[in-house]
Formats: sequence, C-alpha cells, structure tokens
Amino acid sequence: MGRLDGKIALITGAARGQGESEARLFAAEGAKVLLTDVLDEGAAVAESIGAAAAYAHLDVTSAADWQNAVALCITRFGTPSVLVNNAGIMLPGTLLECDEATFRKTLDINLTGAFLGIQTVARAMIDGGGGGSIINISSVAALVARPGYTAYGTSKWGLRGLTKYAATELGHHGIRVNSIHPGAVATPMTLPDLSPAAVAERNSLLAHLPIPRWAQPEEIANLALFLASDESSFSTGSEFVADGGRSAGAA
Ligand code: NAD
Repeated sequence: MGRLDGKIALITGAARGQGESEARLFAAEGAKVLLTDVLDEGAAVAESIGAAAAYAHLDVTSAADWQNAVALCITRFGTPSVLVNNAGIMLPGTLLECDEATFRKTLDINLTGAFLGIQTVARAMIDGGGGGSIINISSVAALVARPGYTAYGTSKWGLRGLTKYAATELGHHGIRVNSIHPGAVATPMTLPDLSPAAVAERNSLLAHLPIPRWAQPEEIANLALFLASDESSFSTGSEFVADGGRSAGAA
C-alpha cells in the first residue's frame, strides 16, 4: 500500500530537479500525478513514469494556463487533492544591483504564480468537496537573508507569508497549506554539473554547515511526500525546514 494511494497531485516545475523528484516519488507511493512546466521535456518525464502520470504545459504566471491544467487534471485523473507550487527561478543581484525587470519577473513567477495556483486549485478542491494539501516550495532564504539574491529572497519570504494567509483562509474547507524551506539542493538551478564527483567537489562551499554537503532532490521530495500524505493531517500554516542546519545559526 502506498502512502499516497487515492491522491491526485499537480506539481509545477516538474520537468527536472526537485519537481521531477517529487513526481516520481508521489507516483511510486500510489498518487496520480500531473506534471507541469514551461520546459516541455516534462512530457518525457511523465511518459517514463507511466500511466499514473501525465504532462501539461503550464506557465505559472498565466491564469489561463492554470485553468487549462486543472481542467486536464480533472478529466484525466479527477479533482486534484495535492498541489505542489515548486516552479521557481533564482537570479543573482544585490538590492543595489537588481534591475526592476528582474525584480518583477522573480516575484511574478515565484510568488504570483503560486497565488494563481492556490486560487485555481483551491476553488477546484472546494467544488470537489474533498479538501486537500497545498505545498509551497519556499527556501531557507525566507528564514534568514541571503545577501546577493534580494529579488529571490523577497519572493520566497512572500511565499512564506502567502502560506499563512492561505492556511488560515482555507482551513475550514479542509485544505491544509504548508511551506518547505530547502537549503542548498543539487539541481540545474544551482549547479552546472550534477555528476556525483562535481557535486562532492562543491561540498567545500558548505563546509561550515552542520550537514556540510548539498542535498539531493529526493531529500526534499521526502518532506513533500509527508505533507502530501495524511500523515501530516494536523499540520497547516507551518514551515518545514530541510537546510542542513543553515538556519540553526551557522553563517
Ligand atoms: P530547477 O531550476 O531544476 O527547477 C525549477 C523548475 O521550474 C524548472 O523545471 C523550470 O522550467 C520551472 N519554471 C521556471 N519558470 C517557470 C514558469 N514561469 N512556469 C512554470 N515552470 C517554471 O530548480 P529546483 O532546485 O528543482 O527548484 C525547485 C524549487 O525549489 C524552486 O522554487 C526553487 O526556488 C526552490 N529552491 C531550490 C533550492 C536549491 O538549492 N536548488 C533551494 C531552496 C529552494
């Protein structure tokens, strides 16, 4: 018996990295999964998972794309009971360097995208009557500031706050909303070479942390699995941290 038997999950940014890892794990645990992304390589990922998975092109900044993806999910699998707002971008720049276009684009994808997703999927969950679990992939950068990534960090603090509002407003519909705060995860977002040797070489950048290495995407997906499942049935509006101990006090 799988930990997600009977669940129907919609995951954004699922063509690679953490989103792909969550899609594979959720399907292995019994869920039906709609993978979505702007990178249409996600279709091949869904195909490799098998009949429990499908793919839809979804730019999280497009309300129309959200409507289409949720409609496809309902037709193919049923009303979504899990949403993972995982899609995101991270562009460098201090407050003084960051141009307006970069700041707006980052908030549009990382924060407004999640807002549109929560609104669209929560309405479907309410219409379906079955409640659900919404998981927002924020960052350790929303627990402690990360100088040099001001737009990114601001968007992730916003997502942390949006989580609290959504949890308090949707709780009486049986919808739980929580945020995950990963530290450094080895994905295409952060490392140019994901071979084990190259990742191990970059561990030196994290030598000051209690867990002095990069996380693998599966280590974050395991936390998302817990939140997607009924095992987390009394948790909402909460922050779940997997950051190698960075926010515990290390620099
Ligand atoms: P990634 O770059 O491999 O994955 C991000 C995915 O989001 C990509 O597939 C990309 O195509 C997709 N995406 C980008 N813009 C989109 C849009 N407008 N609409 C739909 N999809 C879009 O990186 P990842 O590490 O797997 O990132 C997943 C999430 O985890 C992100 O929200 C990221 O900010 C967060 N995060 C990552 C780290 C890390 O160290 N990698 C740490 C903390 C938080």
